[in-house]
Amino acid sequence: MSKIVDESYRYQVIRKTCYSANIIYLFIRLFYLILFLISKLYIMVGITAGTMLFYFLFFIILKKKKYYLYALLCGNEFFAFVIASTLLVGFSSGFHFYLIGLCVVSFFTSYFNKVRNVKGTIIWAGLSLAIYLTLYFVTRFNPPYYAIEKWLEMTLFTTHAIAVFAFVVVYLLVFIKYAFSLEGRIMNESRTDELTQVKNRYGLYDYFEQEDKTSSYLALFDIDDFKTINDTYGHVTGDGILKRVATITTNTLPNAFFCRYGGEEFVLVLKDEEKSYFDQLEELRKNIEKEVFEYKDERFNVTITIGAVKYSKEYTLEKWVELADSKMYSGKESGKNKTVI
Ligand code: GH3
Ligand code: MG
Ligand code: MG
Repeated sequence: MSKIVDESYRYQVIRKTCYSANIIYLFIRLFYLILFLISKLYIMVGITAGTMLFYFLFFIILKKKKYYLYALLCGNEFFAFVIASTLLVGFSSGFHFYLIGLCVVSFFTSYFNKVRNVKGTIIWAGLSLAIYLTLYFVTRFNPPYYAIEKWLEMTLFTTHAIAVFAFVVVYLLVFIKYAFSLEGRIMNESRTDELTQVKNRYGLYDYFEQEDKTSSYLALFDIDDFKTINDTYGHVTGDGILKRVATITTNTLPNAFFCRYGGEEFVLVLKDEEKSYFDQLEELRKNIEKEVFEYKDERFNVTITIGAVKYSKEYTLEKWVELADSKMYSGKESGKNKTVI
């Protein structure tokens, strides 16, 4: 489980996003500061300079890794800034766009927050809409404090539109990238056998659906007398044997598809290569047979019985496995430690 919910990766995404956002916010404010200074809108200059101070201080919060507090402070600062700016320079200067951006950021924040709860985010979104509409109506009936020039209004509107679109795109991109990578990890983990770290039977289902099986052989092998081994040497030794058998198989037949089918049964899908499939399986059987296992002072060997069947296109996976299984079974019946084809 620890690999699926990788906290360090999660933190890396949060940390990077917060730091980048803070730097970008600062640059945007710097741009405003210059613009308002040129236009001699001194109240706006004061507000902007004040908020820039906030963003410098926010680096301390980020350094202390208080990312949620950071998001909360940023959100509130944006609310205050948007309200003040809209009342001072008018609705058509487009500060209200930020309220839409804030909604996206608040959903992003709630996803990365440890507390899995969107209630606060929904309230936040509702509040954004309420402020948005209030600002619209208030400014419809009350002229803004400053009657700004057309060029400034157009510059502000364009900058806000671009900035907010860019915010939304970037936040969603980070979000989607994270989701894709998480999906990949979960997919991989769900197809990996926990004990042996080779593929599990779901990996075989994928393989069967996706790969070309023409001229392939499915081999099912099962450890001989494994119950006795468990009873004699204990389950921990049994687990160690399963791991070692998996490693030997991967090393002996690196080109074959290989998975733990369940319990002490494994499946291989292989083709004739320089060596025929039968010789490859025999090589595996012998490599396992000659491996020496130890339990306290005792040394012992483990054997496997293999059954293999060539693919035919009318086979379902279940049918193919069943046929290999019955070959394997006949090997068990006739003395074990052999490959039956
Ligand atoms: P045969 O030679 O006919 O295959 O006999 P067997 O004793 O190997 O067959 P059986 O199916 O009776 O026993 C399989 C044993 O494998 C029983 C089960 O406890 C053991 N086993 C299954 N999965 C694991 C596992 O993950 N770890 C351990 N240690 N044992 C396992
Ligand atoms: Mg078995
Ligand atoms: Mg067995």
